[in-house]
Amino acid sequence: MGQAQRASELSYDAIQQYAERIGTKYKIYDADGRANLKDLVKTLGGQIEYVDTDESLFVADEGKFTIFLPNHTSQRRDQFTLAHELGHYFLHYLQLGETGEMAFQRGGQNRLETQANFFAASLLMPKESFKNQYERFGSNFFHIAQVFDVSPAAAEIRAEVLRLT
Ligand SMILES: [Zn+2]
Repeated sequence: MGQAQRASELSYDAIQQYAERIGTKYKIYDADGRANLKDLVKTLGGQIEYVDTDESLFVADEGKFTIFLPNHTSQRRDQFTLAHELGHYFLHYLQLGETGEMAFQRGGQNRLETQANFFAASLLMPKESFKNQYERFGSNFFHIAQVFDVSPAAAEIRAEVLRLT
């Protein structure tokens, strides 16, 4: 189904900036810096469906896509998955100028998965907000994770990537 997927040629710094530009443009952050991704998906023309299988993204066309979320997972897990699938949509569809149907499933090319994860972390934990929370809570990743609605592990990795630890 659909066409072959291509990785983004953007550097990780550029992916981070791209994700943050999107977050700012669509005003997805509340006062604490938490991202509202469900509204963003809607604004972009996407919809969310809950399924008994793994998460995936199906793009019908630009501005028309569905993110499938597994049933029985946590809100935080969903939040990261939404950000990850949006990463595929922006990095591996819109930004590459793809058209027509494309599907992104778990177990795809490693490079695409890594890029989507990095996009997700950048979208959910923008650099400056993250630094502010890190200054506030130090390496108490449990609290930082609560602010951004992510897992403590994701917050800890973010701190390492931003070289705060
Ligand atoms: Zn993926």
